[in-house]
Amino acid sequence: MNKTRNGDVLLSKFLTNMLPTNKLLHRFNIVSSPNCDFCVHAEETISHILFHCPRYRDPRLQLLKEIQNLNLRLLLLNCLLRYIPPKPVTFGQECQGQAESA
Ligand SMILES: [Zn+2]
Repeated sequence: MNKTRNGDVLLSKFLTNMLPTNKLLHRFNIVSSPNCDFCVHAEETISHILFHCPRYRDPRLQLLKEIQNLNLRLLLLNCLLRYIPPKPVTFGQECQGQAESA
């Protein structure tokens, strides 16, 4: 399976709430408890993994930093794009105002 295909499969499982969390695996009697192996007293759900579990704190912080950097790069790109004229100037048009006033 190639990298794009793996990403597509992971994304579709995420969107359909079918990532193999303990809560899902417990529903199918694959594991004995729906709780997180690390936190013990919290159910292991996608939300728990993404936002709450201390086990994934460092990767979560790294992801937030990368998102902030991406936002800064997009902001810089937007600022740069404002300086590009919306329409190209045609030859002779830039001197038209001077000829009329002379
Ligand atoms: Zn946890």
